[in-house]
Amino acid sequence: MLSYTDARQKVIEVTGGLRHIPGREAVEISHAFGRILAEPVFADRDYPPFDRATRDGFAVRAADAAAPGAQLECIGEIRAGGSFDGGVGARQCVEIMTGAAVPPGADAVVMVEHTKREGNRITLERVAERGQNIVPQGKEAKANSLLLAHATRLGYVELALAAQVGQARLAVSSRPRVAILSTGDEVVAVEAQPGPRQIRNSNGLVLETLVKLGGGEPVQLGNAPDELGILRKSIERGLEEDILVLSGGVSMGKYDLVEQVLSDLGAEFHFTGVAMRPGRPAVFATCRGKPIFGLPGNPVSTMVTFELFVLPAMDVESGATPRPLPVFHAKLTATVREKPPLAHFVPARVEWEGTEARVTVLPWQGSGDVVTLAAANGFLVVSPNRLEIAAGEWADVLPRRGAF
Ligand code: AMP
Ligand code: MG
Repeated sequence: MLSYTDARQKVIEVTGGLRHIPGREAVEISHAFGRILAEPVFADRDYPPFDRATRDGFAVRAADAAAPGAQLECIGEIRAGGSFDGGVGARQCVEIMTGAAVPPGADAVVMVEHTKREGNRITLERVAERGQNIVPQGKEAKANSLLLAHATRLGYVELALAAQVGQARLAVSSRPRVAILSTGDEVVAVEAQPGPRQIRNSNGLVLETLVKLGGGEPVQLGNAPDELGILRKSIERGLEEDILVLSGGVSMGKYDLVEQVLSDLGAEFHFTGVAMRPGRPAVFATCRGKPIFGLPGNPVSTMVTFELFVLPAMDVESGATPRPLPVFHAKLTATVREKPPLAHFVPARVEWEGTEARVTVLPWQGSGDVVTLAAANGFLVVSPNRLEIAAGEWADVLPRRGAF
């Protein structure tokens, strides 16, 4: 059985090999957050476009301020957005605001806090160095230089850059369409009143939410009962989309029929189990050129396996580099023991004490226990070769997506 890291790598390789070329569309920049650039973004001019003052103060010639106490004559002012006719001569200075263009002749800006003013006579209390408090024209980026490469994911900083260069509309890849199909005779709609042995379809909602969070477009196919004919029809419908994600029906039970139906449809299986708990029965296959994930139906298994396996496939299908697993270290508050040979993802609560993350495992009832998971904000990851982690040791934590 594959380790979860090898299984994840397999997903990336196989999905990449499908060579799906995402469509592209133009979107308003205000709607582009989280999208993947389908075209690079270049600088429309030098940045900064002029020698920019980074402090409020006085533009001076550094040579005039080689020793503290220099006295200069102030010959005018420059506001941000404004300009100044003429230049700064010897023993002269110009009052300047943050973001304004440094006038010709000046080569340093002295902060107003380091000056004294009497009328037009300015006393500099400190020496000035050439170039201080000035960003020269083009120092951040030259006109026509590459600012954002093709396939960059647009976070707010990337959007700031695109906005800065005037890209009011951006060419982005189409979101991958992810079909979501839950399975199970016992599963009823969220708004339905379940019978005494029935459960509501929480996975459908979770998968829809995670697909959106990951940058995809969910296509909700509802629930299919554990019945070959209906399951097959629903799966074939799902194969019309870019990716198909199923929940339930992949364990060893008599009515776990997903693998059989996929096999009848001629699917190629890349794994039918992963050395992890929860999530051990997870299935990854391809059929008709589409990636298919059979995630175990227990809600926590569905969540963890989505994060590990479906998300990178969505990234690949979007034309983006798969996001790394955002695992970080936290200090364990109490000793944890797990049994070999599986990797364990245990619901855990991370709190910070100053800059130090501390993680506490929460006692839970296994992968159906969403009640406990709601009190957790991540998972302690116990690798199969490290089955006891002592209190005070540093341990791996996978945050719950969006928790921090
Ligand atoms: P399965 O993977 O089909 O064996 O299901 C494992 C467990 O997850 C069972 O207790 C199911 O009732 C539960 N389950 C399956 N599908 C869902 C769903 N869509 N929403 C919530 N729980 C589910
Ligand atoms: Mg089932």
